[in-house]
Amino acid sequence: MNPRSLLSFCQADLKALMECLRRAVEIESPTSSKAGVDHLANFFAREFRRSGGTVRLLRHATAGSSLLAEFWGERRGMKPILVLGHLDTVWDLGTLRRMPFRVHHGRAYGPGILDMKSGLVCGLWAVRALRAVKGAPRSPVRFFLNSDEETSSVAFRKQILAEARRARAVLVLEPAQGRALKTARKGVGEFQITVHGRAAHAGVNPAAGVNAIAELARQLLRVERLARPGRGLTINVGVIEGGTRSNVVPEHATARVDVRVPRLGDGKALERKVYALKPVHPGARLEISGGVNRPPMERARAIDLFRQARKLGREMGMELEEASTGGGSDGNFTAALGIPTLDGLGGVGDDAHARHEHVIIRELPRRAALLAALMARI
Ligand SMILES: [Zn+2]
Repeated sequence: MNPRSLLSFCQADLKALMECLRRAVEIESPTSSKAGVDHLANFFAREFRRSGGTVRLLRHATAGSSLLAEFWGERRGMKPILVLGHLDTVWDLGTLRRMPFRVHHGRAYGPGILDMKSGLVCGLWAVRALRAVKGAPRSPVRFFLNSDEETSSVAFRKQILAEARRARAVLVLEPAQGRALKTARKGVGEFQITVHGRAAHAGVNPAAGVNAIAELARQLLRVERLARPGRGLTINVGVIEGGTRSNVVPEHATARVDVRVPRLGDGKALERKVYALKPVHPGARLEISGGVNRPPMERARAIDLFRQARKLGREMGMELEEASTGGGSDGNFTAALGIPTLDGLGGVGDDAHARHEHVIIRELPRRAALLAALMARI
């Protein structure tokens, strides 16, 4: 199998690839819309079947369906390669009306196009390219397209982990970082800190009250001091709520705090410190919940796969770099199991989760060919 023949196939088939991408983008699939995600799952089920895959829809009572597709399933001699993607986006139903799919100056725009409908389409074309050049991989290739990645992959977490455990490598279809592949991701966590104080009239008997907002403000300054930005351990107090009206000493206040940790040990240490917070005011009570919910994807899990990708990229005339990111993906879970995981193999573009979200069109066949070459060679 010559990687260049994969690239030629994908480049020659770009028109069909773009048509498939347009159709995928035009099926709105916010995590919260079961109907929308189900619709997109059905769309990809048909496309994967057309490419010879054995496809199963995994239904869920409240979340959208996830999709499992297997190719070259008869090659049982080796553990499968798992290709991970997600069907859901962060864009609400109706977004297409103000942000329609469009092509302009070599870029394609639309909600979820970078994160990650282009990745899904590249995965599909990788299979099509391998079939076209008769370059079957040595092992089965299994796709798991998850339905609720953008809200931390709760519904199908168990199934994803089970798939990963039986795989020998995991390829993740999240967008590239610039053009770079992602070899490390920080762990992601969220804490909720609630202060219970005591309400009182702010004018008549303020001393009878315990101001929950003032207490929370003091606690949050302590929490911020737990950050180690130099090492990549960052903390963001993102939401704060509390109080009822200005002339009432507030009884309750709550903050939600996002944390990013470079190593598993950092997450454990941080959890210990946050849960050890003590009230400053003796009349206040703290209620703390949450913690690290996506473990970090450490570089050691990715580096061998990255080296192979770089070598294959060179054979196709691409110079691939590696990057790390603070954002989490399902690759965090699979890497934490010790399974070699390479991420950022999806589309190249910019502004994921933002108004001008787009992909660079000529990169798409290159990404599809790289995925195909990885499936064939690793
Ligand atoms: Zn994503």
